[in-house]
Amino acid sequence: MKKFWLVLGFISTLALAGRAQQAPPASFAADFLDKAMRIDLFHVGDAKEEVMTIDRISQEGIWPGTFTHLIDPYNYGHYVLKVYDVASNRLMFSGGCDDQFSEYKTTTPALNGVKRTFERSVRFPYPKRPVLVVIEARDKKNILHPMFDVTIDPADYHINRETTAAGDFVYEALTSGDPHDKVDFVFLAEGYTAADKDKFKADVDRMTAFLFTVEPYKSARAKFNVRGVFRPSAERAMDEPRQNIYRKTVLDASFNAFDLDRYMLIEKDHRMHEMAAQVPYDAIIVLVNSKRYGGGSIALDYCVSTVDNERSRQVFIHELGHSFGFLADEYYTSEVAYNDFYPKGVEPLEPNITALFDPAQLKWKEFLTPGIGVPTEYGKDAIEAARDERQKNGKAQAEEIAAAKKKGLPEAEIKKIQNKYAEADKSPAKVIADTKAKYASLEDKVGVFEGAGYAAKGLYRSQINCFMISNVKDEFCAACRWAIGRMIDWYGKPD
Ligand SMILES: [Zn+2]
Repeated sequence: MKKFWLVLGFISTLALAGRAQQAPPASFAADFLDKAMRIDLFHVGDAKEEVMTIDRISQEGIWPGTFTHLIDPYNYGHYVLKVYDVASNRLMFSGGCDDQFSEYKTTTPALNGVKRTFERSVRFPYPKRPVLVVIEARDKKNILHPMFDVTIDPADYHINRETTAAGDFVYEALTSGDPHDKVDFVFLAEGYTAADKDKFKADVDRMTAFLFTVEPYKSARAKFNVRGVFRPSAERAMDEPRQNIYRKTVLDASFNAFDLDRYMLIEKDHRMHEMAAQVPYDAIIVLVNSKRYGGGSIALDYCVSTVDNERSRQVFIHELGHSFGFLADEYYTSEVAYNDFYPKGVEPLEPNITALFDPAQLKWKEFLTPGIGVPTEYGKDAIEAARDERQKNGKAQAEEIAAAKKKGLPEAEIKKIQNKYAEADKSPAKVIADTKAKYASLEDKVGVFEGAGYAAKGLYRSQINCFMISNVKDEFCAACRWAIGRMIDWYGKPD
């Protein structure tokens, strides 16, 4: 183990403190080495068919997770990785895994049969004997079907055993203990030039400091190790294809993923994992050296955010909610009743939203405010109807004024139009103010509030405010706090 650290070119604070990393217990040691096996995959296909192929299999440094949490109990992810012992057919490891392809296959080009290739890396503890690795994909009802399998002999000399050290600068931002017992976050530098190394360290410190002001991270600070890996890019920032801006950077971060304005993703998943593998890591956060607003994430893989926008800290926490906590977006627009992302009649996998088919099985039932209505009336329909009315009035006013100006009517006539609409606006404005006042006491209550997962109807969240719906308050709702808390306990050692 010591050798691993020295090869990386830095001395672990743990070693300095004279605390050796623990040896795996017999149950783990019977099946695995304290190393990770990483498979770099290509995921190819369209809406109708998909295949995975192997690019490369590598051996990584220590296994960064616990020695005991090996079978995923949460049923997260649109894909699930399962590792079986070939000799006994026993399931040894499982975990959810998502990638960019799972989003791509719902897009118009994919529906039109355009095949694309995306990278994805998966990891599990390094087996001692031959294993069968299976990846299962969910159908629209979230039922799993096998889609890829490969038998791997861990002794195969084709497995890449190069050192994980790539010569990058490693920054220890927070050291709390043995990586097996702690949640290990790694920040990767993207779009920082060689001259920006100190800026990267300061950005890691700034984001880390903010992270630990937010619950449930705040109370769990002692369960985290935080490291940064710095590799200089030739140019700053990232690609913005819509603006014809292309930057030569280490991980090829790019805005306009799936042609969306503020959606940024990393196209080089394999390279990202190779860069991260220089330290023990459970979750990857890519920091992009730019002022632009935006970010993105792939659940159970990584999140990415710019650092210098005034809202960057909130974007980082929101995107980390997706990637680390497998949280759904809680926002919605009043125009969309249902959507394909969460098909009607299927309970979403994510812990923070529900279709409420069975209130007795509500995901966050233990946190409900006693006596609260399920679902919880909070004046949503009245407020949205009033908002629609105001919007309609605004539009009608603009049209009427434009027509009046075109006719060359005097200023007094235009003033009359304005007065008429100001009068018409009073009633819906009052409805909004009164309704908000009526339900103001629900602000800090836990209930079942309709409107979540992009749908105004049929999907519910646990509180009015949350990082996953807006940035009104720098807080997670009760369901998100609970869900993040159990991921912290999954990657680290529970209390
Ligand atoms: Zn939430």
